[in-house]
Amino acid sequence: MVFSLENRFSNRKDTSEEIAFQEELEYFPIPLSASDSNLTTSFVDTWQGSRTYGGDRTHEGCDIITSLDVPGVYPVVSISDGIVEKLGWLELGGYRVGIRTDSGLYLYYAHLESYAPDLKEGDRITAGECIGFVGDTGYGEEGTTGQFVTHLHMGFYVPETDGDVAINPYPYLVELQKTQLKYKYQEP
Ligand SMILES: [Zn+2]
Repeated sequence: MVFSLENRFSNRKDTSEEIAFQEELEYFPIPLSASDSNLTTSFVDTWQGSRTYGGDRTHEGCDIITSLDVPGVYPVVSISDGIVEKLGWLELGGYRVGIRTDSGLYLYYAHLESYAPDLKEGDRITAGECIGFVGDTGYGEEGTTGQFVTHLHMGFYVPETDGDVAINPYPYLVELQKTQLKYKYQEP
């Protein structure tokens, strides 16, 4: 993906890493349903919004809300090629998948209902490949559900010398909506 607008991120200057990963991002993470046009998604810019679970903090990502608030219906696809670096439970993120792109961007998909069958750490993933299903897991011990509406939390982390630094996924997701795949959903 190449951005057509000149610097849309006026609060940061584009580093060479950012230019590299912009080109790696290919698909919106939740495809449209090929059979049911009522299954839609929506998202707004909630970057740095207030969150209180686990202590006061700010929101390090973008939440994509599904119109049908039922876990396990909407598939999640990888937005880029990469390697599955992390897979498993996190207290905040629930069942999550972390994928590292070739340029080093870390893509964090959280609150999944389940993973794609046989997905494991170290797997090579292609953009558009299903990695799991949107859910409502997290905010507790392993298996906790129902603490919030069904949604996908997406985080983007850029590698810096002292570790990965979160950036706002929102403008990238807006662009990626132009390349939303269609997928044959499971029956709700
Ligand atoms: Zn979130």
